Amino acid sequence: MKALKEVWKRAENSLCADCGKPGESLRAAGGKSWKQGAGAGAWAGEKGEAFCSGIHRNIPSISKVKSLKMDHWDDAQVQFLAKHGNAVTKATYEAHIPIYYYQPNYNDCQVLREQWIRAKYERKEFTELGKHLPYSDGKSREGILWKRGRDNGQFLPRKFLLSEREGCLKYFTKQDAKEPKINVKIDVINATFQPAKIGNPNGLQITYLKDNKTRNIFVYHESGKVVDWFNAIRSVQFHYLKVAFPIASDNEVRNFLKEGYMEKTGPKQREAFKKRWFTLDHRRLMYFKDPLDAFAKGEVFVGSRENGYSVQKGLPSGTQGNFSWHYGLTIVTPDREYLFTCETETDQLDWIAAFTSIINQAMTPQEYASNTFFPHRWSTLF
Ligand SMILES: [Zn+2]
Repeated sequence: MKALKEVWKRAENSLCADCGKPGESLRAAGGKSWKQGAGAGAWAGEKGEAFCSGIHRNIPSISKVKSLKMDHWDDAQVQFLAKHGNAVTKATYEAHIPIYYYQPNYNDCQVLREQWIRAKYERKEFTELGKHLPYSDGKSREGILWKRGRDNGQFLPRKFLLSEREGCLKYFTKQDAKEPKINVKIDVINATFQPAKIGNPNGLQITYLKDNKTRNIFVYHESGKVVDWFNAIRSVQFHYLKVAFPIASDNEVRNFLKEGYMEKTGPKQREAFKKRWFTLDHRRLMYFKDPLDAFAKGEVFVGSRENGYSVQKGLPSGTQGNFSWHYGLTIVTPDREYLFTCETETDQLDWIAAFTSIINQAMTPQEYASNTFFPHRWSTLF
């Protein structure tokens, strides 16, 4: 149908309205005029949009999903779509998204994408200004999360408390305990969804610094409410940073850029290469013996090009081979070179791209401060 094709070929409709994936896909906002009288109509294209259309299909109270190519469209429906493309949808349902609220993309896990869609169309969290949101009450948040035991790997329910006033996250081992097991300042916390790593679709990893060491805890909530916890942490963090660093942008509230296995060698570069799990958290590169280890075995700060940092493809010529993976990369810092090998060329290029984007960014004053906070102590830990 020509009129329908014209609508979905509009530039505003070239990316999925919910996750930004390129393809043929659009959402139509509005509703009363749509036959079912539901809140939002959702239409999926043929290519690539199985993700979000599948989520919409599971929420029939808000969405009716039709295929752009396979389904029959009557004139009224096409006209409705012509009036309500992705631009109108966004203007309606994304009108007032808090700046700290994490907006997922198509690489994100299912729970993040589903809760994003539910927040927008089912709960209509962003349609009005000043709406009470479960992650932005500005005081504190308390509840039970299942936390993985540090050494035994068993998940047990624990009371968590997030306080904006104190700017910290606590958890208690006993329900009625007065003293928290941990009490961590919000500015040393990094929360990221890691469902595959944790083995739960709602698995959240919380990383923090204690005594200059990186510690991981792994939690989940039985429901999608875990996303409210995630955004509540971001909210508290954002407000804390706004006060601490008035010029701070929401870049400070950030996600891990990349994680995965590489092989590394030691400072002499003649030691055997060992396979380790790496986490690149903005300018902090950490490595763990096992992805679920509580503590990083070591970390190194990745500065900017002006400070003498660079990344190169391959290993220095003459590197004594004791590695089983063959896609090398070298990070040059003012102190020494760090040598890594990747299993595949894709991995190698991904890591190089991640390091390059960090090195190419000028450092902020806060990062200069953290550079002294995280000295180049990797070699001493190796
Ligand atoms: Zn999508």
